[in-house]
Amino acid sequence: MLKQQKDAMRPSESFPKVKYLYGPVATIFASTKTGSWRILRPVIQQEKCTRCGTCAKHCPLDVIEVDRGNREKEVIIDFEYCKGCGICANVCPRKCIEMVPERGVK
Ligand code: SF4
Ligand code: SF4
Repeated sequence: MLKQQKDAMRPSESFPKVKYLYGPVATIFASTKTGSWRILRPVIQQEKCTRCGTCAKHCPLDVIEVDRGNREKEVIIDFEYCKGCGICANVCPRKCIEMVPERGVK
């Protein structure tokens, strides 16, 4: 590379601080709708669920809403962002989350 080209690439005094990006970067996380990745969907058997909150604690996307101890309120999953990883089903002590094929759900 020519010296002139190298100099042109360097941030100069007059140039404000520059951040270099080395790949694609999501600047608005909410725009990454991870729900579109899902092949399996978690289905909760609400009547078996004790609202312990274990699933919500372990969900990597924090998309499970549990009112702990309140059996009157159903556990809610935000399917816009749930990616169907199945961690919630694996950690549920009551085994009341079933992963079902996405296409089978009406
Ligand atoms: S881990 Fe299972 S029992 Fe506990 S709140 Fe989640 S679904 Fe209900
Ligand atoms: S399947 Fe994964 S992303 Fe979806 S609610 Fe369960 S733990 Fe969260």
